[in-house]
Amino acid sequence: MKIRIGVDLGGTKIEAAAFSPSGEMIFRRRVTTPQGNYQGTIEAVVGLVRDTVRESGAQNFTVGVGTPGALNPQNLLKNSNSVCLIGKPLQEDLERLIGQSVRLANDANCFALSEAVDGAGYGSAVVFGAILGTGVGGGVVVHQKILTGPNAIAGEWGHNPLPWPEAWEQPAPPCYCGKKGCIETFLSGPGFSRDAGMDRTATEIAQLAERGDEKAETAMRRYEDRLARSLATVINILDPNAIVLGGGLSKIQRLYTNVPRIWGKYIFSHEGRTLLVPARHGDSSGVRGASWLWD
Ligand SMILES: [Zn+2]
Repeated sequence: MKIRIGVDLGGTKIEAAAFSPSGEMIFRRRVTTPQGNYQGTIEAVVGLVRDTVRESGAQNFTVGVGTPGALNPQNLLKNSNSVCLIGKPLQEDLERLIGQSVRLANDANCFALSEAVDGAGYGSAVVFGAILGTGVGGGVVVHQKILTGPNAIAGEWGHNPLPWPEAWEQPAPPCYCGKKGCIETFLSGPGFSRDAGMDRTATEIAQLAERGDEKAETAMRRYEDRLARSLATVINILDPNAIVLGGGLSKIQRLYTNVPRIWGKYIFSHEGRTLLVPARHGDSSGVRGASWLWD
């Protein structure tokens, strides 16, 4: 049997899963990411791949890996928040140790691919996968293929400036990327907590708003308006059939009714045909999307 192995290489955990030809998950294992240790990280990934092959009884297999960051034209990793991976020949090292070709993709792209192939974006020709978590990332999938681009940044909307800023939104908060007022500084979990002026997580703020807390409700409304503005600029350029939200904040249910209601004000069209949906595969999107890199 030929299986597809997907590896999700994250900052805190590394997870591998094996999928049968029909797409059924037949094995899954996760380990803690060795912190700040490139060699240890490589060995952990290779060990997981070997375990997965052995435990699933595969004769043939493909390996896809989702990583934070992207490959530069020299096949070295860039833009990764796992800094020990930056500038390292991850693909080459993995291929040498595993003994066959390995495909690598950005983790947000893997998320978008997973949701486009058999998730919440199933059946949509163009899918924008948007991650709202510790950071804000995104990926574009067209006809079930990741759109990468010459700079490998297609879909990276998080470091565009917040669109249509109001005077009261100035001065814009600084972003770690060196600019000010990036979408990520407003729409990430930490950005939301800071903006709300509450020492609570985004999920807690959403729960407080549900219980009628006025401060939390006001913060939620600001968040929804900013998300609508930010997604409207994506729609104006890409016009995706579906936008799938992932990450911790994607679990806030009211976003799916309120945001499409608001974005009509900002989109250059009155058709309103864009779907906004929550991710179907949740935390499995990383391994699923990485495994689909070979289809
Ligand atoms: Zn930024």
